[in-house]
Amino acid sequence: MAAVTSSLLRSSITLRALSPFNPLKRPNSTRLFQSSFQLPVRQLLAELFRHLTSSVSFLRFICTFRAMSRVSATHDEEAAARAAATEANSGAPTIFDKIISKEIPSSIVYEDEKVLAFRDINPQAPVHVLVIPKLRDGLTELGKAEPRHEDILGHLLHASKIVAEKEGIVDGFRVVINSGATACQSVYHLHLHVLGGRQLKWPPG
Ligand code: AMP
Repeated sequence: MAAVTSSLLRSSITLRALSPFNPLKRPNSTRLFQSSFQLPVRQLLAELFRHLTSSVSFLRFICTFRAMSRVSATHDEEAAARAAATEANSGAPTIFDKIISKEIPSSIVYEDEKVLAFRDINPQAPVHVLVIPKLRDGLTELGKAEPRHEDILGHLLHASKIVAEKEGIVDGFRVVINSGATACQSVYHLHLHVLGGRQLKWPPG
């Protein structure tokens, strides 16, 4: 019995020693491969994690910054519109008078005897052209329109369509008129914004 037990014990030790799960029996090359492989993988994962967390916080910072600058830009526009509105009906010349007289340069897209169309200095779309009457005639804003302005108002709309054609956006474009401080009008000389060249969203801001 003692002999059988001792023989069984010996064979079990031999089996375990030969088993591939015995780390001592793994060939040296395997152990070397694992130790040299595990270290960089761990470092790589740590690096990746560090990179991801720093990217996430960087992205979060960018989003917050963009949101804050959007809010501040909106406030700037509203403040500028309110300031411009105080001068609205003074009859003082505006920047557009200087553009009409060519005192200051502009990029003219279309012109006839009654209207001038030029590119907006701060474009909100790939195509952003302003169409204005050469003679203001009290039309500081659309809210001041009177029956005598019907002709020029029709002319401005038709000129907007010509501009859209010239700019290659006649299949889809938008014409906007901001009237008054609540609509963020900043120049008190009636003007139509012709916008296009990208998918426009609705509702507008
Ligand atoms: P609004 O805010 O509707 O009164 O639009 C006035 C527009 O005039 C804005 O979109 C401005 O970017 C534009 N604008 C102001 N000054 C100039 C300029 N010198 N040349 C071209 N566009 C201008």
